[in-house]
Amino acid sequence: AIQKEWTRVEDFNNGLLIPNDSGLDTARKTSEEAGLPDIAVSPNEGRFLYLLAKSIGARRCIELGTLGGYSTIWLARAVPLDGHVVTFELHEHHAKVAQKNFHSAGVSEKISLILGSARETLPKYESKEKFDLAFVDADKESSSLYFKELKRLVRKGGVIIVDNVVRRGKVADGTQLDSSSSGVRDIMHVIRDDHDVEATVINTVGSKGYDGFMMVYVK
Ligand code: SAM
Repeated sequence: AIQKEWTRVEDFNNGLLIPNDSGLDTARKTSEEAGLPDIAVSPNEGRFLYLLAKSIGARRCIELGTLGGYSTIWLARAVPLDGHVVTFELHEHHAKVAQKNFHSAGVSEKISLILGSARETLPKYESKEKFDLAFVDADKESSSLYFKELKRLVRKGGVIIVDNVVRRGKVADGTQLDSSSSGVRDIMHVIRDDHDVEATVINTVGSKGYDGFMMVYVK
């Protein structure tokens, strides 16, 4: 019953504050029709990423975990015309659907998709210009590895957002040993001991249940 209430409140808020965007709506629909799992960020979370990117004047964003490109399109909407979003995706089918969605949303020119496991592609990835914002939304097992690489790629004063770090309370329960919860606990310990960053976790409830994201500021 509480889940129904969370969804009702989220729908109310989104209805009031999030304008229709046919590119984003199409991306959700196309992804569902193509059989992709229903694990994209919710509209208000996408809007949060968009507003955060705008707030810090982000020109370049990097994303791990594209799926159908829903969050990628939000980021592309936030960066200026000469801005860019680089997104990493493991599955070819997801990547194909995402490319189609980028096209429909009119943002393909702002986005580069790197196909393959980010575990392999990210350590090899070099960029002349650093990134302002990173969104980590791929396999949670690899979170610490991703964090290490993103520190190399994100500018000082930049922000790294890591999604799904609460997992209905499982991460805060040391007896939960599934690889995703352990992966998130690992990165939280790495961040605690890293004096180059400052971080916090915001719990969230909504259409996707009880979860949360971590915001990491690179000093
Ligand atoms: N960010 C997307 C959004 O909100 O619209 C959702 C991403 S979904 C939660 C996670 C994605 O990460 C999936 O498409 C999955 O195939 C991808 N993924 C999983 N392991 C990966 C890896 N090692 N490298 C790159 N992508 C990976």
